Amino acid sequence: MLKVQNYINGNFHDPLSDEWLDNYCPSDGKIYGITPNSSREDVENAYIAAQSAFPVWSQTTLEKRSQILLKISELLENNLQEFAAAESKDNGKPIHVAKSIDIPRAASNFRFFAHAITQFSSESHHTTGENAINFTLRQPLGVVGCISPWNLPLYLFTWKIAPAIAAGNCVVAKPSEITPATAFLLGKLCNQAGLPKGVLNIVHGLGKTTGQAIIKHPDIKAISFTGGTKTGTHIASVAGPMFKKMSLELGGKNPNIIFADCDYNNMLETTVKSSFANQGQICLCGSRIFVEASIYEKFKEDFVNKVKKLKIGHPSNNETDIGAIVSKSHLNKILSYIDFAKKNHNILSGGHVVSIKNYENGYYMEPTIIEVNSNDCDLNQEEIFGPVVTIIPFEKEDEVLQMANQVKYGLSATIWTNDLTRSMRLSHQIEAGVVWVNTWMLRDLRTPFGGTKASGVGREGGFEALRFFTQSKNVCIKY
Ligand code: NAD
Repeated sequence: MLKVQNYINGNFHDPLSDEWLDNYCPSDGKIYGITPNSSREDVENAYIAAQSAFPVWSQTTLEKRSQILLKISELLENNLQEFAAAESKDNGKPIHVAKSIDIPRAASNFRFFAHAITQFSSESHHTTGENAINFTLRQPLGVVGCISPWNLPLYLFTWKIAPAIAAGNCVVAKPSEITPATAFLLGKLCNQAGLPKGVLNIVHGLGKTTGQAIIKHPDIKAISFTGGTKTGTHIASVAGPMFKKMSLELGGKNPNIIFADCDYNNMLETTVKSSFANQGQICLCGSRIFVEASIYEKFKEDFVNKVKKLKIGHPSNNETDIGAIVSKSHLNKILSYIDFAKKNHNILSGGHVVSIKNYENGYYMEPTIIEVNSNDCDLNQEEIFGPVVTIIPFEKEDEVLQMANQVKYGLSATIWTNDLTRSMRLSHQIEAGVVWVNTWMLRDLRTPFGGTKASGVGREGGFEALRFFTQSKNVCIKY
């Protein structure tokens, strides 16, 4: 049995309330561990530890901070196997995905911000004619809160923590209660890397108890949140009136726009990934596929054939393409959309739950392709966040642009075309924070990352993250 504990002031603790949550393994449906459901008092202890560590950490040299972050990154790489196995078991994702994407990216997050902080500088402005010089300090905020979701557990957790501590803040962090395992393991590595006690504190529990205590804490200065749009709306309503700084990375319903002049084979292969990687549980997945009419029938046939070949199986099997859905309730939510599709649309492939021998109680389902007759239907307007995509043909560029933008979300978009002018025109007009042309999920950690509309506010990545986790103070000196 895995017993997750809170990591506060460098030590591991049971929750003060002694309240625990069961931890389910999605690949077999069994309970395999327990996780604290931390109370306001636990969050307060985490805050006190962070607040006590802040005066020294915020004055620690950049070189020292950078060295510690690099050490954490190195330790993550050295413990790749253990972390990948834990992530796969907790989340249901294929182990080869955890090994090649999730954990390496978590290590990169620490390494990237270890380097970035040494290059982050303040500006100065000479005010000509006034004999004055202005310089702008960028000071850490103090104690900040980081809250992350279950789909890319350690990847997204560290994407927040690394810039926060690199910039000199101390952190109270909460991973998703559905996937707490790797965040728990991270605490041990932070101690080994020599991260001073209290700089990072990890409290586990439900959003409505532990998460709520973080966002309502009067002295936590900022909230960096990744999760659903509904939760983001709630967080904004609580933290906004307290004037906390907020970065909200929320849901998506991303268009994947395919023109006839694209590099077809590359598009087809990538579209299988952008549809079903991580069981379709990536906020950047292209879940609405729009295909130019002249290649629609060919694409439909080729796409369905390729998707039918994907292997659904136990996450520990290296041959598995599609692992388990993260939880039973999430599987049921996805299936409710499929029931709706059965009545109103054309399911081209998939749509059923799958029973895996010896793991019959696991949460498996087929990757599903649905042909819809309009962009207005729920299947094209609501985030399903599972292995389900819709396809629909279009005739004209204007028509597809209108459909792509006709949705409340605006996280990412993918465009497949070899017409440079068209790609420039569409990239400019599309309502999304991230646009990929002839690729998908190609990430350079220096670039701004985040969404528009109901996909959130604020940007992560590169200096944007370091700006978020610092506040500017301008000093004007007259000489
Ligand atoms: P969620 O909103 O249910 O939970 C996210 C986190 O918020 C969890 O840690 C949860 O415990 C916490 N939380 C819930 N209620 C809270 C409250 N009242 N106060 C404080 N914290 C609270 O989201 P989820 O189901 O874990 O994740 C899936 C969602 O995340 C999808 O909508 C997906 O699109 C989104 N997502 C977005 C991005 C992005 O970068 N934009 C990345 C990954 C996932």
